[in-house]
Amino acid sequence: MTSAYGGPGKYIQRAAEMDRLALHIAPLGRSALVLIDGFLHDRLAPLVRGQLEQAQVAARIEKFAGECCQPEIGRLDALARQHHADIIVGIGGGKTADTAKLVATALDARMAVVPTIASTDAPCSAVAVRYSPEGVYEASLHLPRNPDAVIVDTAIVAKAPARFLVAGIGDALSTWFEARSNIESRSSNYVAGGFPPTRAGIAIARECHEVLMRDALKARIAAERGLCTAAVENIIEANTLLSSLGFENCGCAAAHGIHDGLTVLAETHGLLHGEKVAFGTLCLLMLENRALAEIDAMVRFCQELGLPTTMADLNLHGDLRGFARRIAEAALAPGKCTHATPVSMTVDLVADAILALDALACRIAAGPRVEGKG
Ligand SMILES: [Zn+2]
Repeated sequence: MTSAYGGPGKYIQRAAEMDRLALHIAPLGRSALVLIDGFLHDRLAPLVRGQLEQAQVAARIEKFAGECCQPEIGRLDALARQHHADIIVGIGGGKTADTAKLVATALDARMAVVPTIASTDAPCSAVAVRYSPEGVYEASLHLPRNPDAVIVDTAIVAKAPARFLVAGIGDALSTWFEARSNIESRSSNYVAGGFPPTRAGIAIARECHEVLMRDALKARIAAERGLCTAAVENIIEANTLLSSLGFENCGCAAAHGIHDGLTVLAETHGLLHGEKVAFGTLCLLMLENRALAEIDAMVRFCQELGLPTTMADLNLHGDLRGFARRIAEAALAPGKCTHATPVSMTVDLVADAILALDALACRIAAGPRVEGKG
């Protein structure tokens, strides 16, 4: 029996933790390249600089250009070397976190991630997703280390537009179902080159799902009003920590594979990662021919939260079969996590599952309850 478990060095979640950032950064290095998301840069840069200077950490603060792509990674890599940075800090969304992780890996520097939205499971993992400058998925890169520290200021995350929290719920919804796929197909996780999951990894993926079922709707309603309730705190943890540990320790499958397939369609570029993953998750359940009650419940869960469940929700109109085939072809490219799904797959079978899910979700959205539920 072998198994492996991996995760970030530290995870800290507390309201106003941004004011204590230097406490977590200073033990990791003396010279920091701090990457801040565009729209937060002007507000946070003076605060972060002041804190780091007080803690005697040299700070070079840089505005993130917006895409985790090779030109941006190269630009920041050069800046970090010029600054002799021994720690890279990424403050912002998932792409900022992944860019910071890739630059830190290239420099063999320590890394800290400060998510300001809870929209993806990127912050805690040793996986970074690189896109083209136009936003097309290129590669999931497996890094030798997880972030040394992940610091979540819940007061900032709760004030972000609720759409981000809901997208994070969509991303986290895939965690348990993809873990189940990987367990059934006996696929390896993403820890230390790939091992069977530990009981801890599986328990975390299950708990992620339980938290979503219990608190997601309450959290969305509170987040729409900028309120930070216990449900919001739980969902921030589920989206950021549980989902991240869950996918890294148990593996991804067709939910993320279909997401990757969707990124080749320009029509879907306005959608967030987690929104596309939510749709991919529903397609995964159809592809695996899970119980109707389960698929029905998850479609309703997504519809209630405002996550996409139909191709129309993804801005796909007209030749739906053509779209489904293009998604399926990209999802089944060699090396994709789709192949961890425990059923035999062809482009036609995946495309048909996408179209069947679309038809079922349209029917559920139209009103009548699906027969055979229960
Ligand atoms: Zn994801």
